[in-house]
Amino acid sequence: MIDIRPIPAFDDNYIWLLSRAGYNGCAVVDPGDEDPVIERLQSEGLTLDAILITHKHGDHVGGIGGLKAVWPDAVVYGPAGEPIRTLEERLHGGDRVELDGLGVGFDVLDVPGHTEGHIAYYGHGALLCGDTLFAGGCGRVFSGTFDQLSDSLIRIGRLPPETRAYCAHEYTLANLGFAAWVEPGNADLEARTGRDRARRERGEPTVPSTIGEELASNPFMRTDQAGVIAAAGNWADSELADRAAVFRALRTWKDKDYD
Ligand SMILES: [Zn+2]
Repeated sequence: MIDIRPIPAFDDNYIWLLSRAGYNGCAVVDPGDEDPVIERLQSEGLTLDAILITHKHGDHVGGIGGLKAVWPDAVVYGPAGEPIRTLEERLHGGDRVELDGLGVGFDVLDVPGHTEGHIAYYGHGALLCGDTLFAGGCGRVFSGTFDQLSDSLIRIGRLPPETRAYCAHEYTLANLGFAAWVEPGNADLEARTGRDRARRERGEPTVPSTIGEELASNPFMRTDQAGVIAAAGNWADSELADRAAVFRALRTWKDKDYD
């Protein structure tokens, strides 16, 4: 079984480190900065086997060159549908990445919306989801579309509920604050907010969450729930015809009025 641990970067990014006890190779996900990764790997005596990239944004790819300078044999995997010059293995949804040294494999899922070609890696009960699903929220729509991100989140919601979701930012408390605007009476949300606030006060990450927790308390995963549909329709002042319309209203509401 592999360990998945965070390497904090910038103000609120997590670069996920995949390692296994007794093996001196490892992989990292979305290294936006090489410095904290080099420091951590050297302190643990680890060699970098692979870099997994979810999407093109600089805070996810900026450290690739610096890591390759130290570990030239590390293989750089990432989305075929995004313009990232430093990729070596270009992946499509349905592909599989085998990290032989670590003894793990991941299925590649297409999850566009935040960007046009965003992918996620799914395996061993874990989803490495970049900026698509956040704990308590989701990414903004930049170079993808609202419909794409709505559909991607619906498909993520069909993964087993015990799946641990490793997103790339610590945004959880702010996200849960917006979630409480949408569903002020959601008891699961209230319990989660108390738990996650305590984690932050102890200096601990709130990530990973589980898909089951997201389905219970993240409004962007609950666009089929009557209370969420009503709140989004009230904000948009219109009838929302389908889940994509509910999603668009929620995402626009948060962007305009919350943060
Ligand atoms: Zn991003």
